Amino acid sequence: MRAHRGKLGFGPGPGDEVFAASFLARREIVFDTELLGHAPDFVSIVAHEIYHFVWRRLPNAERFAWGELLRGEKRPRHAGLSSQLRYEVYLEGNRERHWKDYMCEAFCDTAAALTSPNVVISSQRKRWFGILMKKRRLPV
Ligand SMILES: [Zn+2]
Repeated sequence: MRAHRGKLGFGPGPGDEVFAASFLARREIVFDTELLGHAPDFVSIVAHEIYHFVWRRLPNAERFAWGELLRGEKRPRHAGLSSQLRYEVYLEGNRERHWKDYMCEAFCDTAAALTSPNVVISSQRKRWFGILMKKRRLPV
């Protein structure tokens, strides 16, 4: 499955290979059936995609606080490939739009990593999500 310019494609063609895609306006998530045979990855990817919906509705104060946390990380320990790739794009272009994309993917990857004992997350990120969850501010 491929994502290209906001649309999914199947078979050869342009775009990036993805296992899932969220369509926020339609409130829809599409998963690649290859995930059915890989339960741990499936759980993590489901969590990641659900947190895209949370990010979209997260109050600006929380988004700003998350961005400040990330800006304070001198050498970020990425919680997933998606945020790592977005960070590399940001470093190449150093544009605000790329930083916002990175913030979103880092948020979703970190949230997904909280479901996995195999991914190491920084104590600051764990603490930040703990506070967010205590506030019950996870709008979907
Ligand atoms: Zn994502």
